[in-house]
Amino acid sequence: MFVNLTRKSLLALFLSSMVFVAIAEDAKDEKKEDEKEKETLTEVLDKKDAFKGFVDIYRDKEDGSGLVVFDESQLNKPFLYFVSTVDGAVAAGTFRGQFRGSRLIEFRRNYDRIEVVSKTPRFYFDPEKAISRAAEANISEAILLSTKIEHEEDGKIAISLGELFANEDLHKVSQTPSDDPKVEKRRFKPGKLSEDKTSISEIKNFPENTHVVVRYVYENSDPKVDGGNEVSDSRYTTLQIQHAFIKAPENDFQPRRDDPRIGYFSQQFDDLTSDQTANYRDVINRWDLQKKNPGAELSDPVQPIVWWIENTTPVEWRDTIKNATLAWNTSFEKAGISNAIEVKIQADDADWSSDDVRYNVLRWTSSPRPPFGGYGPSIAHPLTGQIIGSDIMLEYSFMKGRWIAGEMFTDGYASLNDGLQGDERMNCSLGHALNLGMMFGQYAGMADGMGKIEEEKLLRQSMAYLILHEVGHTLGLNHNMMASQLHGHDEAHDASVTQGILAGSVMDYPSVNYAPVGREQGDFYTEKPGPYDDWAILYGYSEALADPTAEEKRLSTILSRSAEPQLAFGNDADDMRAVGRHVDPRINIFDMSGEAVDYAQDRFELIKHMAGKLKEKTLVDGRSHNDLTVGVNVLFGEFARQASVVSRYIGGVYVNRAFVGQAGYTQPLTPVPEAEQQNAMDTLSAFVFAPDAIDEMAPLFAYIQRQRRGFSGWGRDESPRLHDMLLGAQKNVLDHVMHPNVLIRLTDTTLYGNTFTAEKMLANLTDSMFKADIKGDVNSYRRNLQVEYVERLIAMSGLEDKSKYDNFAQASSMYQLGRVADMVNKSRGDQATKIHKAFLKDRIERAFYKG
Ligand SMILES: [Zn+2]
Repeated sequence: MFVNLTRKSLLALFLSSMVFVAIAEDAKDEKKEDEKEKETLTEVLDKKDAFKGFVDIYRDKEDGSGLVVFDESQLNKPFLYFVSTVDGAVAAGTFRGQFRGSRLIEFRRNYDRIEVVSKTPRFYFDPEKAISRAAEANISEAILLSTKIEHEEDGKIAISLGELFANEDLHKVSQTPSDDPKVEKRRFKPGKLSEDKTSISEIKNFPENTHVVVRYVYENSDPKVDGGNEVSDSRYTTLQIQHAFIKAPENDFQPRRDDPRIGYFSQQFDDLTSDQTANYRDVINRWDLQKKNPGAELSDPVQPIVWWIENTTPVEWRDTIKNATLAWNTSFEKAGISNAIEVKIQADDADWSSDDVRYNVLRWTSSPRPPFGGYGPSIAHPLTGQIIGSDIMLEYSFMKGRWIAGEMFTDGYASLNDGLQGDERMNCSLGHALNLGMMFGQYAGMADGMGKIEEEKLLRQSMAYLILHEVGHTLGLNHNMMASQLHGHDEAHDASVTQGILAGSVMDYPSVNYAPVGREQGDFYTEKPGPYDDWAILYGYSEALADPTAEEKRLSTILSRSAEPQLAFGNDADDMRAVGRHVDPRINIFDMSGEAVDYAQDRFELIKHMAGKLKEKTLVDGRSHNDLTVGVNVLFGEFARQASVVSRYIGGVYVNRAFVGQAGYTQPLTPVPEAEQQNAMDTLSAFVFAPDAIDEMAPLFAYIQRQRRGFSGWGRDESPRLHDMLLGAQKNVLDHVMHPNVLIRLTDTTLYGNTFTAEKMLANLTDSMFKADIKGDVNSYRRNLQVEYVERLIAMSGLEDKSKYDNFAQASSMYQLGRVADMVNKSRGDQATKIHKAFLKDRIERAFYKG
């Protein structure tokens, strides 16, 4: 009653004229409540629909009100609580199948109420140590909500379904505002939760898990930003969120410790009784795969991991999906477990649901604006890391070879890694990355007249890679963005060397391995787990020894191999996709081979070659220019991605996480050798900044035209923004190589071996911006780039505004401005060039004058 009164009173405050009505209604409610209490629980439940399972739920046939009925034995026991999105809106920050979080919760009785308590499992106290007696100090458990017991009878306790779920007490659904005011301004805001409109939309009950889907309705009378096509009316946003209570397993599962040299998802604990500086007691997420014959060298598991291919899966894809899933068994065999994974196909008339936690299902979805092409969340026990169940959602549009990245590059430069930003810890945007690679492969194939067999191989290997990768996540593995370094640049294209393994791991986002001009096509994508994957599975799943000391020694021996090149590892937390972030250029997405810069050179040549063929291959009688337009975007997107890959080697530092004394140990930080940094700089100079960088694309410009549709003009006029397009990619490179972090790193690293100094780097940049055409006409792309560069030097110098750069960079940039002023001093070239040079000269003078 208290809760009701409070809510109603709040409403009354806003609607002062309605106060009396509200109070009157409360009185009515109270009367009804009294009547209800006369009925026994059995009588009440008899009138309701029963959903029996792990936790029984009953719902009234008429008003939809419901009761959650616990058995007394279920109180004070940990439940796994797992939240995911059934249907969302990408603009509102959540999408179908998204994992939203998990906790360990307990339902506890406090007199006539039930409290839902979340116990933070973050901290560990060694029970052997006296200090553990203070374990409760300063660590509070959260009481998520407290609700009145509605009925009680024979060890059954009933609470209100609505009180438990139709609010944000258990789980906060609304998006947390961004710290970045610019992001916040652009963000669609669904508004406040309307508790009146929020309701329970579905109850699904199984022996070991109970799901309640809540339809949350948010209201914003005046949204400033539109919610996109999938929100019918931006004032009212509906999000379907699933709350799942899952039975905590009761078994002898042995947690396995995490280690920085290997990439598992983990549950983190701080050992507050430890005297180590790294007082971590994290455990990895893994399945309970115990050998049927303990001690045997190779044994089947007591319980294999069973994957079901959903009956919605296109029949022609089922074998590829099955084989890719089973391919993981070779890794498990090397770890002593045979037939670890089984794959079954869901019968067309199956009467079980993929929501039943006992079934792990490869599912399909098709969303209007797919955020990801496939991802595999798994449910893990927050204390032990034991994986209890998992589903993989595959995005159908990924396989349709349709352009799914948001903006067209030609409309102005879109985000380089469109759709690849955001919190990646539990989500995976590989599908998106693969879609970009597949599109590139298809257009390259079109340009080259690729045969049907090759085309099928591209599709098959893309799908196999997606499945291998997503299943890898469900086994507990996180990304390994360093894995594509496995082969040399030349070997990567040689199928007799790669034999289906292009990378150390399937957990990377590699570039599609399309053959350079004039070479035979090798593997497009990896189709088997790589050496890193075998090693990671060995670490995570090999049989433990009973003696803890011997077990620790066994694990340490496995880990001590980490410096072997084929076991290289680095995940998203360290990758260099974003400008200015992180240091090791080998940990990156869209790169390929251990000589990624040389690899990119071949790719730039291939792009030129493809551009030369695009018109002939895409302009078909009776059709619009849409294919050509998408083709230019595909080529240009790849151009920009490879430029980004190359740029990261400048100012880079190779990181080694080997522990002291292990085989292959080196100092952890080694600056990228000067020759490699210079190679990267020369590559950018030749292919990205050069006056002829996109000459081969120029004949296509007059043909870039999207197929008209109704009145949607994509918000812009029809002339492609060609200068913006190239400058956008160039700016992305400059954003990195001229980033304050990179500049200071170039100087910092001189203290431990770097010889490609900040001074050299900027001198190189000035040369590549100006030297090639200083004596003749400077074309419009170059003029655009040169102005951009000079503006950045001025910003770096601090001549006009306070500089964000270190002292060394400021001095160097001023020196480079002087060089540029000298170079543009001679008035040569055509009229536009003369005007441009006079402008630059004047611009630099004004900056110095002001300074
Ligand atoms: Zn992934």
